[in-house]
Amino acid sequence: MVQFSKLRLSGFKSFVDPTEMVIHPGMTGIVGPNGCGKSNLLEALRWVMGETSAKLIRGSEMDDVIFAGTSTRPSRNLAEVSLVLDNSQRLAPVAFNDHAELEISRRIEREAGSAYRINGKEVRARDVHLLFADASVGARSPALVGQGRIGAIINSKARDRRAILEEAAGIAGLHSRRHEAELR
Ligand code: ATP
Ligand code: MG
Repeated sequence: MVQFSKLRLSGFKSFVDPTEMVIHPGMTGIVGPNGCGKSNLLEALRWVMGETSAKLIRGSEMDDVIFAGTSTRPSRNLAEVSLVLDNSQRLAPVAFNDHAELEISRRIEREAGSAYRINGKEVRARDVHLLFADASVGARSPALVGQGRIGAIINSKARDRRAILEEAAGIAGLHSRRHEAELR
């Protein structure tokens, strides 16, 4: 799998000023006081990987990811998030594999929608989806553990928990194919 190495945000939700988060190999946990922006960081990661549902990033419309202003700072009209991937092991899909580093960025302007770039070149949302689908991560991947998710897994019924584990292990597809074979 490609390695996430940096997440850069500007004007995204509470991260109005340019912010860079370094992501080291292995598991990453985000800690901090209530309201400091932990969930916003995870949502930035999902958003740059192409999440298209405003609801899943706690908004009613896509423009809600743009800094809305506070009592002391005016709102912004633009938000941008970039995700840098370390591809030195050349594990990215063939179309992107001549770069040791890949930078995926998504930018949104109020009432004008969003646009994606990979290493500075404008691409379609679909290209970004495909890049992450082939890298077995993505906006809805079980690799991103959101708030309340651990509790939900612990409290779920055995059958539902197994489905989550199968999805994480990448065997959910095999299961449905077996079911299909048994019906024949
Ligand atoms: P908790 O520990 O309670 O889960 P958290 O660290 O996950 O908190 P977040 O939910 O990421 O915190 O951040 C909440 C803050 O982000 C709130 O103060 C909220 O006002 C702010 N926020 C969210 N969207 C925007 C926006 N579009 N513009 C400005 N601020 C925003
Ligand atoms: Mg939170």
